[in-house]
Amino acid sequence: MWGVKYMEKRRLGKTGFEVSVIGLGGIPIQRCNQEISDEIIEQALKSGINFIDTARLYSVSEEYLGNSINKVGREHFIVATKSAQVTYEGIKADFETSYAKLGIDVIDLYQFHNVSKIENYEKLLSEDGAYKYALELKEKGLIREIGITSHSKDILDIAVETDYFSTIQFPYNPVELQGEELFKRAKERDIGVIVMKPIGGGVITQGELSLRYILENENVTTAIPGMGSVDEVVRNAEIGNDFRDLSEEERAKLFEETGSLGNDFCRRCMYCAPCSVGIDIPMMFTLNNYLTKYGLEHWARPRYESMPNANDCIECGDCEPRCPYELKIIEKLKVVANNFDKA
Ligand code: SF4
Ligand code: SF4
Repeated sequence: MWGVKYMEKRRLGKTGFEVSVIGLGGIPIQRCNQEISDEIIEQALKSGINFIDTARLYSVSEEYLGNSINKVGREHFIVATKSAQVTYEGIKADFETSYAKLGIDVIDLYQFHNVSKIENYEKLLSEDGAYKYALELKEKGLIREIGITSHSKDILDIAVETDYFSTIQFPYNPVELQGEELFKRAKERDIGVIVMKPIGGGVITQGELSLRYILENENVTTAIPGMGSVDEVVRNAEIGNDFRDLSEEERAKLFEETGSLGNDFCRRCMYCAPCSVGIDIPMMFTLNNYLTKYGLEHWARPRYESMPNANDCIECGDCEPRCPYELKIIEKLKVVANNFDKA
């Protein structure tokens, strides 16, 4: 097609889909309006990105992306969405909403979203579980393939040994390498590997190097950085359009940064939400980074002070069990509050 660039594609396991090595993560579409979403999808097409991943939990993302995809031509994209429901009735309601919002004939990949507890995994596969409904959708031709996403390697270690799922989705980046054996096993089992959090939820500032590092792993099928602007689409797509292994110098530069981060950081996944007093928890950590790492107090402070902030935490503890990375959010917010108090 005119204007469409070359983008390396890889086979998404047993789905047989040939997907671009850079896919579009749909979380940031929530910050956009329909017009920007349209521009993003137009650019994705021009840049050779053909894999779009959204979720029922990403509010307006399905609706905006569905409209945009239909405008440029549904046939150009492989569209994935997800539901966090684990019961038959629960996923039925979610699917009906997703299908209406996306407004496409068939959802190419329907994923169980963030199955991170064994009881949820067992529930979804039970007699009245979500998997049964997904199979019915497949038989009716309303979805093509079934996948699973998780922040728990233990769950996906179990999932890849079954024949239930065509794809897995798991975080992977230079500071979260725990999926390497899992990805190898998935490839052996012909299960597609979709990488979420390719820049550690924003903590890795050298995004291009991080994406190239991830794609050097031949067990990875596609990495899906979140994209909320045309500029981000262009920059991310460039990596897949001109894919090169890292030089030793680039590798050293990347690991110099990541070596200083450890594992104890927020990936901005928002699973901790909602906070009982309305604090945007990951935003607190982002603003703290601007204050302490980049010296941008003049930018960070007005924003910090204009919203419920770390000082407002009542230590109810509701958020911490929801964090898949088991971050000590309360303690961390105290550090943030202290940093802003003394700055
Ligand atoms: S512990 Fe603090 S940050 Fe967490 S939900 Fe409660 S008030 Fe919000
Ligand atoms: S605190 Fe945990 S759950 Fe909340 S956004 Fe950060 S990593 Fe995600």
